This record gives sequence, C-alpha cells and structure tokens, in this order.
Amino acid sequence: MRAIQIVEPRKIAMLDDAPKPEPGEGEVLVRCTHVALCGSNMGQYTGEGLWGNIDFPNPVGWAGHENIGVIAESRCEGWEEGTLVLAQPHGYYGFAEYILCRPPAIARLPQDAPDPAALVVAQPLATILRAMTRTDDVIGQSCAVIGQGPMGLVFTHTLRLMGASSVIATDLLDWRLEWSKRYGADHVIDASKENVVETVKKLTAEKMVDFVVEAAGYVESLKTAAYLPRVGGRLFVFGMPHYELQEFPWYHVFRRNIQINTCVGPECGAFFQTAADMVLDERASALTEMVTPRMPWDKAPEAFEMYAECAKDSLKLTLEV
Ligand SMILES: [Zn+2]
Repeated sequence: MRAIQIVEPRKIAMLDDAPKPEPGEGEVLVRCTHVALCGSNMGQYTGEGLWGNIDFPNPVGWAGHENIGVIAESRCEGWEEGTLVLAQPHGYYGFAEYILCRPPAIARLPQDAPDPAALVVAQPLATILRAMTRTDDVIGQSCAVIGQGPMGLVFTHTLRLMGASSVIATDLLDWRLEWSKRYGADHVIDASKENVVETVKKLTAEKMVDFVVEAAGYVESLKTAAYLPRVGGRLFVFGMPHYELQEFPWYHVFRRNIQINTCVGPECGAFFQTAADMVLDERASALTEMVTPRMPWDKAPEAFEMYAECAKDSLKLTLEV
C-alpha cells in the first residue's frame, strides 16, 4: 500500500510498497480516502524541541490521526464493510492508504455525504469536546483563545456554541484573524503588532477573562496566556508544548488562584460520533470551511512544508489518499 514516512527532519519518503495491516479481533480495516495534517505533526516533521529526541526515520504512517475512509474489512460487530467513516487509526499510523481502527474512535458518516473530506474537521472538534468535559462550563463567561490555527479556530467557534459571552482571539498572523472573525470572535488581537496582555486589560477594564485557552504551544504564547485569566479564572493549556521545561510565570498564576488544566490523547475518540453529528448539521457545519487546502497524495512533501510555514489559508490541510 501507499504510505508516508518522515525519514529525517523536513524530509518525507513516499512509499508504494508498505505492508497492508491485518485487522485483529475487534478491529476494522479502513481504506482511506483522505487524511488531514495536524499541528501536532509539525514537531515530528521539523524535529524541533523535544521532537529532536525521537528516532528518525519515524515509523511508517506515523503520526497521522485524522482520517476519512471506507471500511474495507471488518472484524468488529456492528461495523459493516462499505461504511463511510471518520476514524482515528490505532497507533496513529494514519498517513497511509489502509489503517486499523477500533471503536469508539470511529464515527459513521452518511453514505451520500457530498464532501466527505470536509468532515475530517470533526476530529479536532472531538478533541475539544473531550477537553471541555474536563473543565467547568463556559456559559456566560468571557473567554480568550491564544493561537488561531485550526485548533484555536475550532475553540473560538465551539466556545461560542457552548454559550461563552465573548471570545477574544489572538494570533501572530493577520490572515488567521480574518478566520477568527468568521468563527465568532468578538475581538481579535494581532500579537505581532499589539501587546496582548495590555490589550486584554483595556478590553476588560483590567478584570481580565474567565477562561483562557492556550492553543499554540510556544513558550511565549504560554507565558502570555498565563497573564490573561482573572483572579480565580481558568487556564486551559491545549497547544502541544515543544519543550519539557520552559519559563512560566508561576508566581503570578499562584497569587491569582488560577486553575490550570491540560488535555491530550486518543480518548477524544469517545467523542467522534458526537463531533461528526455536529459537523453534519448546522450546529458546527461552518467548521467544514476550514478544511483547506485539499492536495493530492503526491504533493505531500509540499503539503508538510506549507503547514510548517503556516502558508496563507492553510488550515485543516487535507491530502486525498
Ligand atoms: Zn491532531
């Protein structure tokens, strides 16, 4: 089968003869039609920070985890061959023509979906639904989201859906902030031009905000995020850090009784069907617009480079398998 392998930092091998996996009991084999790139793939691709310690070449297909496809073989009751699905591959070997999946990290999609690739955005939505089950609700609360890549944008939209009273969105790239407005941000702050902490002080008459999401994963963005919650407010660290240890304003956070939370991992699979259902109807269908650009399989090397460089309007970049 065809598969992608990151062989060294910023270098991809396109394989034509990778072994096709065999489904075990309780698993389905999915023939992929689409796979999306994720911000969490960029560390392994560039080899930056902590990712400099991983072994190159990476395992074949690793670490793709946002797949759309059709069940080609089923050894799992209730999941019939021919079903169109959103699937998270077991082991994250998703940059491949065939993947193995196990419930619950698989969601049924309608057979006649006009644009199946667009439904891949349900995967990042599922990670956010899971994250939000690990903290209190945001109904009537003021929010801020640091970083407006695909995850930050899905947060901006979802916080609005969940009843936040306002959302402030920040990013270093002005084209992303245009998307933030489309997804319901009340205020956008261009962090390349403005001091985010000072601007949020002004916007909130020094009260700061109830709930802050860090969705970028950089040292500076985490520091900025730490200064944004009000006294007793919440900081949700969602962006994948690139370093084990990094500077963080602990005294400020401690003194203000800020609650910190984090969330990562395949457990988001439990939210796949809910997220797919939301994306399929008007609750979250607007998110499908961010599944752009769409690129053919053989353009994968260019696609990874575009994603790493945050090329304009590259959001949930998706490869046709
Ligand atoms: Zn991801």
